[in-house]
Amino acid sequence: MVKSIKEIEQQAFEELEKALTSEDLESLSIKYLGRKGLVTTFLRNISKLPEKERPNAGKNANLLKTVLDKAFKKAADKLKAQKGGTDDFIDVTLPGRPMTRGHLHPITKISREISDIFVKLGFDIAEGPEVETDYYNFEALNIPKYHPARDMQDTFYISDSIVLRTHTSPTQPRVMEKTQPPVRIIAPGKVYRCDSDITHTPMFHQVEGLMVDKNVSFGDLKGILTTFIQQIFDKETSLRFRPSYFPFTEPSAEVDIRCVICKGKGCRVCSKSGWLEILGAGMVHPAVFENMGYDTDKYTGFAFGVGIERLAMLKYGIDDLRKFFENNMRFLGQF
Ligand SMILES: [Zn+2]
Repeated sequence: MVKSIKEIEQQAFEELEKALTSEDLESLSIKYLGRKGLVTTFLRNISKLPEKERPNAGKNANLLKTVLDKAFKKAADKLKAQKGGTDDFIDVTLPGRPMTRGHLHPITKISREISDIFVKLGFDIAEGPEVETDYYNFEALNIPKYHPARDMQDTFYISDSIVLRTHTSPTQPRVMEKTQPPVRIIAPGKVYRCDSDITHTPMFHQVEGLMVDKNVSFGDLKGILTTFIQQIFDKETSLRFRPSYFPFTEPSAEVDIRCVICKGKGCRVCSKSGWLEILGAGMVHPAVFENMGYDTDKYTGFAFGVGIERLAMLKYGIDDLRKFFENNMRFLGQF
């Protein structure tokens, strides 16, 4: 026969007296107030009682529910206070939590990969300042004041003659000033432009390349760039050179690669063209050599500049440039 509400109450308080741990309290709470608990079951079976007993029985059961709930919580608080306000128990036998290990940022990784490829091809690594003079950023590269090419770049001016470098190209005159040919350098680093959207960030990374020697030809440029691109992507990646214009190279070319996503069939990434624009390059303009005091009859050279994020996006299949700089661990953890 079903226990009366009085009996349940009496039994609950007797057992509560004997409860010593928070686990005991937990199981008491389940025993009486849980989904299949004694009080809950009593309430569920109220319809089986004679009709005139029902209202009182329901009222008493609900009252007991509240009373017990309060009593269990009070007992739990008391236990907690006895333990010095904390429920923590240190079990030294539990295995430790694994430490998350850091790793290189994808941009650092690909920058190092690029450097390794060029070092193997006999290039040195050069560096230049990010806060640059107008002279190295523009003038020495055949971009005089009021030259329309200065409009091609949205420049952060610090003063009339100091800028945040808009490309890694100023490293070229900085190196040539101090070195006589032969010169073979790459210069990876940060560059800055007033621009921000899904494909532009105010700071990004470039790598500049420069090779000057006797008899350096456009063929050498093609050979070096093809080797480079095929090592970054795969050996099947083909390149396409399109005539272009840069003030500091002549002739100049934009270099496309066969789309690495669709292999040239045409997709969303390459706008159905099968090709992806990837870098700018050309033969160093004689005016740049003259600025540096190089003999233009004796020496020729090529230069190129690549956006590192652009390479990383294509290599790792990332569609938003800004992800590189948001420091989201879920994104960075994939590399
Ligand atoms: Zn494609």
